[in-house]
Amino acid sequence: MVTLKLSCVVLRDTEYVARSGWSKWREDPSVSLFREYLRLKTVHPEPDYDAALTFLSRMSVELGLPMKKVEVCSGRVVAIITWTGTNPALKSILLNSHTDVVPVYPDCWKHDPFAAVKDVDGNIYGRGAQDMKCVTIQYIEAIRRLKAAGKTFARTIHMMFVPDEEVGGHKGMESFIKHPEFQKLNVGFALDEGLANPTEDFTVFYGERNPWWVTIRCPGSPGHGSRFVENTAAEKLRRVINSFLDFREKEKHRLDMSECFTLGDVTTVNMTMVNGGVAYNVVPAEMDVSFDLRIPPTVNLQVCFEEQIEAWCKEAGEDVSYNFAQKFMHQNTTSTEDSDPWWRAFSSTCKAMSMTLKKEIFPAATDSRFIRAVGLPAIGFSPMNLTPILLHDHNEFLNEQVFLRGIDVYERLVPVLACMPPLTIEG
Ligand SMILES: [Zn+2]
Repeated sequence: MVTLKLSCVVLRDTEYVARSGWSKWREDPSVSLFREYLRLKTVHPEPDYDAALTFLSRMSVELGLPMKKVEVCSGRVVAIITWTGTNPALKSILLNSHTDVVPVYPDCWKHDPFAAVKDVDGNIYGRGAQDMKCVTIQYIEAIRRLKAAGKTFARTIHMMFVPDEEVGGHKGMESFIKHPEFQKLNVGFALDEGLANPTEDFTVFYGERNPWWVTIRCPGSPGHGSRFVENTAAEKLRRVINSFLDFREKEKHRLDMSECFTLGDVTTVNMTMVNGGVAYNVVPAEMDVSFDLRIPPTVNLQVCFEEQIEAWCKEAGEDVSYNFAQKFMHQNTTSTEDSDPWWRAFSSTCKAMSMTLKKEIFPAATDSRFIRAVGLPAIGFSPMNLTPILLHDHNEFLNEQVFLRGIDVYERLVPVLACMPPLTIEG
């Protein structure tokens, strides 16, 4: 368990109030807004997206910025709040967040996961506290401050709120990225979610591993359970399982042996489903096994990886075949070279705030993969240091001081990105 060291944080946004013998901290309005948003039950399997859209409409009115709603699939609406720049012909800045959250096991939580309870240490508990309702409110609050300060920027800024990220994004970002309304946003650079970091550092993600979900079908000769039937499905199944799990061992070893590798640098393999058989005494005519593979962008998918799967199937025996339930092929990463103007703007601003960035490949999948797949640069970044990684976990929380610092971070970052001079490709 990671201990939060926050004693050095200055509580400059809170105010000490003594009232009728009782002492209490008056809460920063940004924190109250965050807690209000956490209470909306946008939780799968039936997220209350209407509640989120009502909330976001109110934000649009408060900010004095228009909000556009695009229904990409039935009941699945993407909302975009736009702050038009002084030179709207330039490529825009996209601040993306998803509105949905993953289910909870309420009995395993210290507090009601939809009550947004704040404890005496300022830790705010709630599903979505890290993933990623914090970022949504940080974007909104940073824009609110910049508007209130009378700033204007050359580039247009879009805050985009998408549904269904947690169920693969098929009725959210994956559909919207192909929509004419997305083209109209004229996006040049995107920010999206990242992960917490338990140390002083901040993690930024410039690529993602490719999820492949594969089922291997092993047909065999059926027969009576009392005999030595030749060419059984189970013998083939065993060879397939051995091939995949031997590879898993090797990759795990590579990760364990390297000091600089993270999960995003190796391929994970997990056997997740096995099917087959009808009775104890019947040798089945078929057995199937399914694997979840996450492959780093450095691996040649077609030549190395798919050929490897094909070879394992061939070695396992006659007629062993495979098919994919998911096979994401795009391997675009976002440049983190100092020669890249977007990266330079992002990283130098973080440096100016004394933030140390750790660049990584995201171990799982986010909506950023769809943005990168159409050739746009996207950085996955949730400004949460000194915070244990609790996304999808019980007792997900974020400390209010870390949350408030994140608003400062975006308040500095957004102007630098939105003031980026025209790039050569923009003429
Ligand atoms: Zn997320």
